[in-house]
Amino acid sequence: MKVQSNKQYNPQMHSAEHILNQTMVRMFDCGRSFSNHIEKKKSKCDYHFDRNLTEAEISELNKRVNETIKRNLPVIEEFITKDEADKIFNLEKLPDTAGETIRIIKIGDYDACPCSGLHVSNTSEIGTFKINSTDFNERVLRVRFKLLDE
Ligand SMILES: [Zn+2]
Repeated sequence: MKVQSNKQYNPQMHSAEHILNQTMVRMFDCGRSFSNHIEKKKSKCDYHFDRNLTEAEISELNKRVNETIKRNLPVIEEFITKDEADKIFNLEKLPDTAGETIRIIKIGDYDACPCSGLHVSNTSEIGTFKINSTDFNERVLRVRFKLLDE
């Protein structure tokens, strides 16, 4: 599988995206983001949703993502067969060119997700997660976030 590499791409941001996605799934039982734009300074993730988030939900989301980051979880890769992966994960987003072996990225015991991107090796490298804003339009919730160096 090809590993993404472009200058804007940021492993810290992308690893935070994994944690945000898992936290969204746990809090709201929605799917992981179906579309996203990850850059060094700020990023956004889009979710199929039915409303905007409240201020209380946004602070809870910030809190849970940061609690996970602060657990200093190892980020590891595992390789499993496509058949095995198909039983556990939604592989719809996987490119057709993906081979018979699927790379799974695990963030401690918190998240596991098929991914070919670049990640930090420990969540301690991510920094502090902060949601800038959210908005809701045509059944899409957009979450904009950044990372603070702390
Ligand atoms: Zn990834």
